[in-house]
Amino acid sequence: MQKQPKTWRHNTFTMSLYTRSSALFLEAQKSIPGGVNSPVRAFKSVGGTPIFIQKAAGAYLYCEDQRSYIDYINSWGPMILGHNHPRVIEKIKSQLNRGTSFGTPTELETQMAEKIVSMVPGIDKVRMVNSGTEACMSAIRLARGYTEREKIIKFEGCYHGHSDAFLIQAGSGAATFGSPNSPGVTKGTAKDTLLATYNDLESVARLIAQNPDQIAAIILEPVAGNMGCVLPDDKFLPGLRQLCDKHKILLIFDEVMTGFRLALGGAQEKFGVLADIVTFGKIIGGGLPVGAFAARKEIMDFLSPLGPVYQAGTLSGNPIAMSAGLETLTILEETKPFEALEKTTEKLHQEIEILLKEKGVPYSINRLGSMFSVFFSSTKVVDFETAKLANNPMFSKFFHNMLENGVYLPPSSFETWFISTEIKDLELDKTLTATQKALSNL
Ligand SMILES: *Cc1c(COP(=O)(O)O)cnc(C)c1O
Repeated sequence: MQKQPKTWRHNTFTMSLYTRSSALFLEAQKSIPGGVNSPVRAFKSVGGTPIFIQKAAGAYLYCEDQRSYIDYINSWGPMILGHNHPRVIEKIKSQLNRGTSFGTPTELETQMAEKIVSMVPGIDKVRMVNSGTEACMSAIRLARGYTEREKIIKFEGCYHGHSDAFLIQAGSGAATFGSPNSPGVTKGTAKDTLLATYNDLESVARLIAQNPDQIAAIILEPVAGNMGCVLPDDKFLPGLRQLCDKHKILLIFDEVMTGFRLALGGAQEKFGVLADIVTFGKIIGGGLPVGAFAARKEIMDFLSPLGPVYQAGTLSGNPIAMSAGLETLTILEETKPFEALEKTTEKLHQEIEILLKEKGVPYSINRLGSMFSVFFSSTKVVDFETAKLANNPMFSKFFHNMLENGVYLPPSSFETWFISTEIKDLELDKTLTATQKALSNL
């Protein structure tokens, strides 16, 4: 890591506190599209220049301009234990000495699969992949192969990675099928993805009725995190389960975000509703690129090399990634931090709510476990339509004010804040002080 002189921060000749980040961003844009390897990092929705991070530890990020931040992005979910957990780092280091990739089976992969099966209800077998995108993409191929049906239902505002079948928006007018929401996704692909409304069972029942015996799977985030945090109402998940059973449709819970975060067994455990296929990512890799999908034996045995549905990966089950993921899951199993995380989040909620009330801005807060969202809107957020009502300019200003005061929130009001176990009373206090200042400058 390159050390920068401490004096950078106090350089009075520059307009910005972020001289080095700005320079690095300019340089990055010459050779990387938009200067980033994933769009949200570019700060497009909040404006300004992304801050380049040099290192992290525990609850904190340290940027290239010698400032530190309390981290509520946590790499978009994986770092539930905070950054650089000593046990995880130790496991990675010891595996490094044995080699980084073999392309052969390893014992670590079986240990990982057994660990996941022991924690997650309703599954017998697991296949490891390298990202959440891959997990969801593979899960729907498996569902289609297993059911011999072609269409899937997804919900507006839910994100399942960037594979073609999911980059779909609501079709116009009376169309029952979606249309591509990115150039490069074909109309042919779009016609097989149907769009329903989150928390609206009627919208799902309608699509099933319009496409009899054609729906292979319904996929959703059992708690949505990619339109901000949006909770399922009491009837939603059980209702989907019933519809799926009635129409022989596979229910896929995308637990890339919620898996090992809401509980050891994820949303399935939290809500007592079982899916047919479950996808994972984020926490399961402990900060390395990992995803997975899992199901009962009869479904998973449809996969190659046992069954006809093809799926593969050169680096899948990579030993370094397995070491990091396995240790992270082991620590979660040993320490069961979920209640403590919920308490921290509850405290954050209560205190921020007091400040928002004092300030008199419209707000709506959603949270579950260690997932948390503030929407600047007086309308309760239950789906994508209501999420879109939030005041984005106000969030952008709030975001930058928080940054100035040492708190790194996700740079979009459609993203969830993640609380890690490293957020302690000190960090909460600092966050609330920052919030007070940020709101006073709105
Ligand atoms: C992050 C995310 C994905 C995509 O995972 P990647 O590892 O970014 O490909 C899929 N589904 C959900 C619910 C996610 O939050």
